[in-house]
This record gives sequence, structure tokens and C-alpha cells, in this order.
Amino acid sequence: MKIAIMSRNKRLYSTRRLVEACESRGHQVRVIDTLRCYMNITSDKPELHYGGENLEDFDAVIPRIGASITFYGTAVLRQFEMMGVFPANESVAISRSRDKLRSLQLLSRDGIGMPKTGFAHSPGDIQDLMKMVGGAPLVIKLLEGTQGIGVVLAETAKAAESVIEAFMGLKANILIQEFIKEAGGADIRCFVIGNKVVAAMQRQGAEGEFRSNLHRGGTATLVKLTPRERATAVRAAKVMGLNVAGVDLLRSERGPLVMEVNSSPGLEGIESATGKDVAGMIVEFIEKNAKPHHTRTRGHG
Ligand code: ADP
Repeated sequence: MKIAIMSRNKRLYSTRRLVEACESRGHQVRVIDTLRCYMNITSDKPELHYGGENLEDFDAVIPRIGASITFYGTAVLRQFEMMGVFPANESVAISRSRDKLRSLQLLSRDGIGMPKTGFAHSPGDIQDLMKMVGGAPLVIKLLEGTQGIGVVLAETAKAAESVIEAFMGLKANILIQEFIKEAGGADIRCFVIGNKVVAAMQRQGAEGEFRSNLHRGGTATLVKLTPRERATAVRAAKVMGLNVAGVDLLRSERGPLVMEVNSSPGLEGIESATGKDVAGMIVEFIEKNAKPHHTRTRGHG
């Protein structure tokens, strides 16, 4: 097959591993810098151009779209979809998963466990909002944050109130969430491909840190999942419409709670913690599923 990898940087671990996996499985592969693609939308035949060249004949595309270029990245991916190229993840599913609030609303509609979460606009409603999610301690999250930046633990009602007021004053969109203390500063990353969790790791925050992000000094270890955790992760990916997803869970007294579903999950942490060839499994999924014009939305969404 001829496979495109949308990525801003060939040297990134995840990109390199995907290239290796494609090549070792006998495919032709090309890394395409997402922001250098431009497109002809008016033509009868949708086209994607790249440095003067017309990108044609790809069978599949693996999108690796960073959060900061979601808008342009999903537009490029949609163009691939309109040309009939099979995407490892569809553009609509990626856009959906990038909106934290929308994702939680969809997961909750499907009855998937999550921390009690509230969202409000007016500072006048802060008191009631805090009561609604069970009061302090609570976690306040900037909707636009990634890698743990903009996630704050407020231990007391007073602290929570001031932080919420401050964020609202800055016109930032925030959600507030019950603090899952029993998770002990750890979370679980489940790597889902198709209908299966193919690898999982536990991430533990540094001493005194409730956020377990590896970018914030967390460490990753192998973890054995319960059947319920596996089922929750697979369902969460399905609800989001993602074939390839990193589902982050917190272990709570009432079972697994989904925090987030990531559409471009990194490969470095999970491959080194588990020793598994996750890149190879992504390519294998494509081999089994890629058919021309196979997207559910065909770029209409
Ligand atoms: P980001 O998307 O920026 O990584 P997250 O929502 O995943 O933000 O939060 C970062 C980390 O903070 C999580 O990995 C988890 O360890 C911790 N955390 C987030 N929400 C909660 C919560 N409600 N209760 C306990 N810990 C949490």
C-alpha cells in the first residue's frame, strides 16, 4: 500500500516508528508536513498539493495532528478523505475529541463513568456549580490546556472560588471536576486500536504532584487492566468514533472513570513501558480496514 503520515516533524519518535512499521511491513510510506499541504476545493476532482506536486494514489493516511494545528490539520485530512484515502482516524472524530467538554458530554450520554464535571459561564453561579460537583477539593481545567498545563487542584472552597473567578475574569473556558483522591496521583493510559486495548501503562505523578503527565515528570510502568477497564476504554474510543485512541482513566472507588480520549496518542511512552510494537499494530489495522471511500462521513461532517 501507499501510506501518507501527516506530521510536522519526521524526527519525532512517533513519526519515525510509524515510518519504520510501514516499511518493515512492505509498504511505501511518505511523511507529509501538514502545514505545507494546500488544496483545490473548487475542482470537480478534490486535489491536495504539496510543494508544487499533486498528492495522488495514496491508499491510507495516518494523521498525527498536534492540538495547536487542529483546524488546518483536520481540513487537510478531510481533503484526503474526499479523495477516497482511508484515514486511520477520521477528521470529524479528531475534531470531536479535541473539544474536552463536547467529548465529556458524548461519553456521559453513553453512560461511561467520568468524574463529576460542571461547566458554567457566569461568576454568579460559582457557588452552586461547586456544590453540584461535590465541593472542595476540586480540579479546575482550562478547556484549551494540554499536557497538564491549566489543570489546577484547589484544596479548599475559598481557593477554588478564587481560581474560578480569576479564570472567568480572563474569559477562559474552564470546567470543574470532582477530585479523585484515591487515584493517588496516577492515571492509566489505554492504547486502543479498533476494538481492542493493545497496550496499557500506569503513569504516576512526581512526588507531591497530582498530575501524572509524563511531560510533567511522571513515570510510566506496565499495568494489568481489569476487564471493566478494558471495556470502558474500548467503548470510550468507539463513542468518539476513533479507531486509534489513547484513553486516559482514573481508578476510583466506583470503578474506572474516563478523563480524556486522545486522537494522536504518543508512541514513545507506551512502547517503552510495554515493549510492544504499537506502531506495527496501527499499520496492521490499516492493512485490514483500508478501503477506498470508506469513511462514515466522507468528509461531509
Ligand atoms: P491534560 O489533557 O492537560 O493532560 P488532564 O485532564 O489529563 O489534562 O489532567 C492532567 C492530569 O491531572 C491527569 O493525567 C491526572 O493525573 C490528573 N487529574 C486530572 N483530573 C483529575 C481529577 N478529576 N481527579 C484526580 N486527578 C486528576
